[in-house]
Amino acid sequence: MRSIKQDSIFPADSRLHKFLAGALLFVALTVVSQVGGVILLLCWHVCRYRLFPDEARRWLAFVSSAAVYCAVTLLCVPLLAAAFGRVPMPMFATTEAPVAPRSLLYCLLNRHYVRPQVKELVIAAARQMAQKYPGSRIHYLDGGFPYGPKFPMLPHLSHADGRKIDLAFCYNKGGKYTVSPSPIGYWIYESPERGEPAPYKGKPSLFRWDMPLLQGVNRDRELDEARTRDLLRTLLRQPGTDKILLEIHLQQRLNVSHPRLRFQQRQAARHDDHMHLQVN
Ligand SMILES: [Zn+2]
Repeated sequence: MRSIKQDSIFPADSRLHKFLAGALLFVALTVVSQVGGVILLLCWHVCRYRLFPDEARRWLAFVSSAAVYCAVTLLCVPLLAAAFGRVPMPMFATTEAPVAPRSLLYCLLNRHYVRPQVKELVIAAARQMAQKYPGSRIHYLDGGFPYGPKFPMLPHLSHADGRKIDLAFCYNKGGKYTVSPSPIGYWIYESPERGEPAPYKGKPSLFRWDMPLLQGVNRDRELDEARTRDLLRTLLRQPGTDKILLEIHLQQRLNVSHPRLRFQQRQAARHDDHMHLQVN
């Protein structure tokens, strides 16, 4: 029978075990969300068993901690981010701003913060796309963290300055517009086809992951080349666009060339599952 003096969400009896588990959770939340570890510390007392009845206290502690995390993330973090010159991208698409995250995880993990000019540019491009394709929206992936340019965002190290955001391609399923095959937008690629340039094929690097086991997932949809080409051209037309990164075989397949459309270094992530937008 568990001692009534036990006061942690962790079932282990060892204090060292509990400390290490808490430290690991702190580091993991800090790496993926920047402020998640700090929020964990702030609400640590909520995690303690003594606030709840004996039997249900572990689940109640977990649910309460998650609720505190969500409340701080959605209500407090955006207020402080303004002091660092960052604003959150829209969490849900509207007629005025037809822009949404590919997954709500980007918002819950505070990875959707950018400089105001990035948000304005993406919304302007999304409105222009919606005029041509009613009901369409731009889905974004990783933007940046809310606080400071020095904190690295893995694996997108260049996103730390708040001037970059990754955008999903447009897809077609049974003739209808749909979202990317990957539920988070990354790692299911539009790989080079026969005859297309593939300068980095067979040359793995630290952040260039091929993810072979994922490549057959949700392939009941195909890249909507016409709409993705229009999205690319619409973004390139925006005066604030500094550059867009896209794998060279997709530049060729979509038949788009522009001085601001570039091809990334081998050390960077693959850009045939998304396009990387950098704003002045
Ligand atoms: Zn990027």
